[in-house]
Amino acid sequence: AILARDLRKSFGSVSVLRGVSLDVQPGEVFGIIGPSGSGKSTFLRCLNSLETIDSGDLYVNGEFVGYCFERGNLRELSDREQSAQRMRIGMVFQRFNLFAHMTALENVTSGPIIVKKLSRVDAGEQGRHLLDQVGLAGLYDRYPVQLSGGQQQRVAIARAMAMDPEILLFDEPTSALDPELVDEVLETIRQLAQQGRTMVVVTHELLFARDVCDRIAFMDQGQLIECAPAEDLFATPQKQRTRDFLQRFN
Ligand code: ATP
Ligand code: MG
Repeated sequence: AILARDLRKSFGSVSVLRGVSLDVQPGEVFGIIGPSGSGKSTFLRCLNSLETIDSGDLYVNGEFVGYCFERGNLRELSDREQSAQRMRIGMVFQRFNLFAHMTALENVTSGPIIVKKLSRVDAGEQGRHLLDQVGLAGLYDRYPVQLSGGQQQRVAIARAMAMDPEILLFDEPTSALDPELVDEVLETIRQLAQQGRTMVVVTHELLFARDVCDRIAFMDQGQLIECAPAEDLFATPQKQRTRDFLQRFN
């Protein structure tokens, strides 16, 4: 689960998160929509401690992000502790960021082998199973250049899953894809969403978000304008800014 209270974050004089509070329940699929530059990616990156927050409270999986309590005092995590914390959160980016010199299977197995110390055989078996799940059976030995964008993104999803994260974050996973490749990736995410893993999905695919997410938050200028069950946000948005944003997609 995720609990964020009054998160604030600036880059220099630019205030990017201006008091963001939200909670995501275990097993929930939570969508975030909003215009470009509203702070969606920055928020996701804070969850994963790729960015540090200036103020506010952020708990993920029952722990403070970047901090822990020691003898009653809050202290910053060491790099090692921070990467252990980060391992429990998977992230899939807009750009697939696959290792170019590794096959699809190697991309999926390298994390488990290196970080989780899984044997090559076990990791391979798990990796093939995951690639089958994302519809890439038989493409195990292809290198990224030999795969379409949609296939590469599905390898990236399998790679995130291979670490068995408690939470999976998606940051516009289809926006770098050619239109005809978007559906296959959305379908993969849709199937994952049915498995009961906690997921946060930032997307411009509003119809997809409405279908797949339990709740959706609308973000604008560093604030959560409103947050509601997916159907409700679209059917009966409460705030004018949300209505204006949704209007553009009708
Ligand atoms: P998009 O839909 O285009 O991906 P977004 O909602 O994800 O937008 P962010 O990437 O979180 O928006 O950026 C929010 C604001 O913060 C933008 O004005 C951006 O220019 C600024 N910003 C993001 N990262 C940095 C950084 N590392 N340094 C300075 N400014 C940044
Ligand atoms: Mg972004």
